[in-house]
Amino acid sequence: MLERTLVILKPDAVKRQLCGRIISMFEDAGFKIIATKMTIAPKELLERHYPSNNKWYTSVGNKSIDNFKEVGLDIKDVMGTDDPLEIGKTVKKWLVDYMTSGPVLAMVLEGNNAIKNVRKMCGNTIPSNADPSTIRGKFSIDSSDVANAEHRPVHNLIHASGEPDEAKYEISLWFGSENA
Ligand code: GDP
Repeated sequence: MLERTLVILKPDAVKRQLCGRIISMFEDAGFKIIATKMTIAPKELLERHYPSNNKWYTSVGNKSIDNFKEVGLDIKDVMGTDDPLEIGKTVKKWLVDYMTSGPVLAMVLEGNNAIKNVRKMCGNTIPSNADPSTIRGKFSIDSSDVANAEHRPVHNLIHASGEPDEAKYEISLWFGSENA
């Protein structure tokens, strides 16, 4: 099914001059670029881009907790809490600050099952757990324990919409509903 999805190359990808290589991977796979925008995004845009609901906070918090368990560390030592909701809220603050700290390259990609296939190419949220053939696994080895200790989001280079509703919402937010 032909779909569109929103991709954002995060400040780490732009700073490391990886945009061309990452875009090539999508073009090689057959995705068509529908729109692009290099921008220093305003905070309010990122506040709306990343959800502010307990389900999302808890999901992000649990990723941290699981990652700490995997490496045998106690998350309380770094975060002062093991409540996924609180951890998720803290990560969102770090994310909004980080995503507005420098230029990002936002784009709309179109292709067959674009939402699922782009996410597959991005790989696991935590680059240290991502397959080396994916964008996150190829270009980063970051993980939650290191990122949380440095009070910053995991540097994983790329955002991609997770679900059709999310893709529609995010494309409208960044590029207007006519591109969704
Ligand atoms: P995604 O859809 O794969 O980007 O993952 P999420 O929606 O769960 O998380 C959003 C972003 O928050 C991720 O891309 C990371 O940059 C950051 N993030 C996720 N989990 C953690 C974590 O455990 N610690 C930190 N510091 N950042 C995280």
